[in-house]
Amino acid sequence: MNNHTHQHDDHDHDDHHDHSEFTTQTPLRADAFELSDDAKIDIIAGHFKSIMETLGLDLSDDSLKGTPRRVAKMYVKESFWGLNPEAKPSVSHFKNKFKYQQILLEKDIQFYTNCEHHFVPFFGNAHVAYIPNGKVIGLSKLNRIVEYYSKRPQVQERMTMQIAQELKSILGTENVAVIINAKHLCVASRGIKDNSSHTTTAEYCGLFNEPENRLELHRLLSIV
Ligand SMILES: [Zn+2]
Repeated sequence: MNNHTHQHDDHDHDDHHDHSEFTTQTPLRADAFELSDDAKIDIIAGHFKSIMETLGLDLSDDSLKGTPRRVAKMYVKESFWGLNPEAKPSVSHFKNKFKYQQILLEKDIQFYTNCEHHFVPFFGNAHVAYIPNGKVIGLSKLNRIVEYYSKRPQVQERMTMQIAQELKSILGTENVAVIINAKHLCVASRGIKDNSSHTTTAEYCGLFNEPENRLELHRLLSIV
């Protein structure tokens, strides 16, 4: 198994903090949400029909004729609903009343997303960890945040950083780590056709830059 590891340490960004938010944002047009979902589905269905016809497919065939609208609905309602900031999961806090101050790790959060370079899936597991200060959140919210950032055209490095940044702002702490391991179908099923490689990305922030915390996180990741 080939592992390509990209690490983003907080130290890399310390000198130009004002740019880091900008660079981790998904590039969106200013008018991204002026059209309704239904209007977007109509337009995409028309374009997808043209793509299929250009490929030479006969859209009067029973099996094909519903495809343009099916794809358009899937794009807008399922694959890419996380483009809209209004769809961001609302997160309620609990007081950290047990004064828990160790690493909390949510491991193996399964996700499916689409690579923005080929529009084919990449999928895998996200491991999300934080060390609470005053606030804790419901465990399922960690899954919801990963899901939200996966439902848009993505780049694995950016998705890793977006999740970390969101957690930092929700939890009011820098002490967050996100590790993602994914299989990219654009690598497995086309191009180089490497079916065995995975890609690992990691974002360590705050106390997770300290060797003992990082070791402890990796130890927790390695036990079942
Ligand atoms: Zn790709």
